[in-house]
Amino acid sequence: MTDCLFCKIAAGQIPSTKVYEDEQVLAFRDIAPMAPTHILVIPKAHIGSVAEVTPANSAVIAHIFEIIPLIAQTEGLTEGYRVVSNCGAHAGQTVQHLHFHILGGRQLTLEMA
Ligand code: AMP
Ligand code: ZN
Repeated sequence: MTDCLFCKIAAGQIPSTKVYEDEQVLAFRDIAPMAPTHILVIPKAHIGSVAEVTPANSAVIAHIFEIIPLIAQTEGLTEGYRVVSNCGAHAGQTVQHLHFHILGGRQLTLEMA
């Protein structure tokens, strides 16, 4: 998508602090961290949100969930972490490109972080 912030980050047109990258997936640090470790994991190909996951594009979601524990291990999140994806207005989704927040590094509350 031409006017999508995370597509531009995936394409390297907007800088990010990368923590993991392969052909399908990029993980980078959230610009406004809500926990000591706050990383976003995105498919490089545009998917708007969880609501747009289909049998045709879901393989990358499985791949993302293989990468998340590797990132958590690299980040030293031995006491646990939270994976969150906000979908739509009621969830407060602000960037309309599917992303999974990894939050950790402190005891998390029952709020998102
Ligand atoms: P959400 O509110 O679930 O859609 O999450 C969007 C996240 O993207 C927020 O936590 C923002 O802080 C984060 N964010 C927005 N712009 C950037 C950026 N340029 N680089 C890194 N994270 C960003
Ligand atoms: Zn996008």
